[in-house]
Amino acid sequence: MKSVESRGEIGITRRAFLAGTAAGAVSVFLNPVDALARTFTTNSSTESLISADKLAGTGRIIGRGDITKPYIFFTIDDCYGIKAVYESLDIGDRQEVKFTYFVIGKLLRIPVYRKMVREIVKRGHRVENHTVDHAMLGPRHTSELPKVRFEIGGFLDLMKEYVDPDYQDHFVRPPGGVGIDGKTFEPLIDTAKTDHLDIAGWSISTNGTSREATPATSYNNVKDRLKNGRIVLLHANGINPDIAVFEKLIITAKDQGINPIDMLTGLEKGLFVHYISHNSALK
Ligand SMILES: [Zn+2]
Repeated sequence: MKSVESRGEIGITRRAFLAGTAAGAVSVFLNPVDALARTFTTNSSTESLISADKLAGTGRIIGRGDITKPYIFFTIDDCYGIKAVYESLDIGDRQEVKFTYFVIGKLLRIPVYRKMVREIVKRGHRVENHTVDHAMLGPRHTSELPKVRFEIGGFLDLMKEYVDPDYQDHFVRPPGGVGIDGKTFEPLIDTAKTDHLDIAGWSISTNGTSREATPATSYNNVKDRLKNGRIVLLHANGINPDIAVFEKLIITAKDQGINPIDMLTGLEKGLFVHYISHNSALK
């Protein structure tokens, strides 16, 4: 199968790190995208890189946007650091850019977080699905389909109940990343498909939840890779340094003529690339 081979070619490897935060957050990520970008630019065959936004909402896996267009996507995960989230909103206002927040759903049960998430929406940013409980949805973690459905569908329910009855999610970012050892978990794909979501990975990460993270590492880990189409992973967990360097990252991107936009806008512009098929992901 060509697509399976392509998966290998684009360098999907498991790069795992333990995010030894005081809150116990663990992040395991898989991301291939700089390697993918090289494949994209050097290989005339785009068989593994179907830029087909008609596939949006069918459980496709995305790791980046179109690298020929000057857009970049800053994504902010978890969001239990209230102060960091509000700081990021002020940065968005100052820089006049919009972000995508992958919020842990259960935070919405707490009034102060409800207020925070409403504020994110009010200020024009996107809130997307990061499950109810920050559940790891890979083969080694949450393994039952009903549990996966609860984690993903429950997020939507919480948003409708507490933030906006008309809210609709478009992306789910599975805690732990889009796959483990080159495989994406079937119940995750099934659920994303049923719920009309794309599965959102990322292209580059600050590793800001690493035990050793500092503002300098958060900046240096990504500063040279802020290129067209990249989905950048940051966290707003209160104790990690990403937001401290966030504005600097945005300015670095802008200085290269790359415009930060939120992922829904990117979806509407048809910028996302479906880089592996659902089926090949399971083999
Ligand atoms: Zn997370």
